[in-house]
Amino acid sequence: MNKNLVVETDNLTKTFLGKEVIKGCNMHVETGMIYGFLGANGAGKTTVFKMLSGLLTPTMGKARILGMDIISQRGGILSEIGTIIETPIFYEHLSATENLEIHLAYMGKDNSDIVSALAKVGLNDTGSQPVSTFSLGMRQRLAIARAIIHKPKLLILDEPINGLDPIGIREMRDFFIELVKTQGVTILISSHILSEIEHLADIIGVIVNGTIVSEVSMTKVKAEYPSGLEAYFMD
Ligand code: ATP
Repeated sequence: MNKNLVVETDNLTKTFLGKEVIKGCNMHVETGMIYGFLGANGAGKTTVFKMLSGLLTPTMGKARILGMDIISQRGGILSEIGTIIETPIFYEHLSATENLEIHLAYMGKDNSDIVSALAKVGLNDTGSQPVSTFSLGMRQRLAIARAIIHKPKLLILDEPINGLDPIGIREMRDFFIELVKTQGVTILISSHILSEIEHLADIIGVIVNGTIVSEVSMTKVKAEYPSGLEAYFMD
């Protein structure tokens, strides 16, 4: 086992109703990296993230997060990861602050960081507002606050900037980069939009029809293809 690997999957496979949708996924995410998981709609990003987060059980194969097996050591993993998987669900009639309080109670943590977490995602003035009044972008921001508030070592973010306007996308991108720089967090983030990922990720993993077909460092891409990732893939 490589100690620098926060996420390591070995032949991870998932079958739904006899159809193999994840076909032996091998992913390697090093500590302090932003790993951009790029793939078209239906390629299998969410299914991989659900297996890593304990929401789905793999049909075959293994995965370790922070050295812990995703099946036998799931309990230990949950407090170390923050996740956004698919559309975030909240207690609609409760405020943003109350939603975070419930999450922290579930994680067995105190409430001291709620004000600063809301401020970090730009929701400082809306903490007492019911979530039912939130726009899509505000919900995404709240989902990000909920994912980071218990200070996880790994963030697993499934298309987290969906619903944000261009300024919001830039703000959240800077925010993620800052988290990595200042707190050493590792981020696994998916998108089907190449340009969203290329300005954020250190490593890109490309999934096509349930298989990771390439893992490449952005340093290498930038050195060889100054015009960017699209040129790399066209080659
Ligand atoms: P998107 O961005 O559209 O969510 P994705 O890359 O995240 O795409 P997945 O949601 O992981 O892709 O889906 C991968 C494949 O698995 C798709 O063909 C999808 O229809 C199928 N699939 C996902 N969940 C199930 C399920 N519960 N039952 C049957 N098939 C499923």
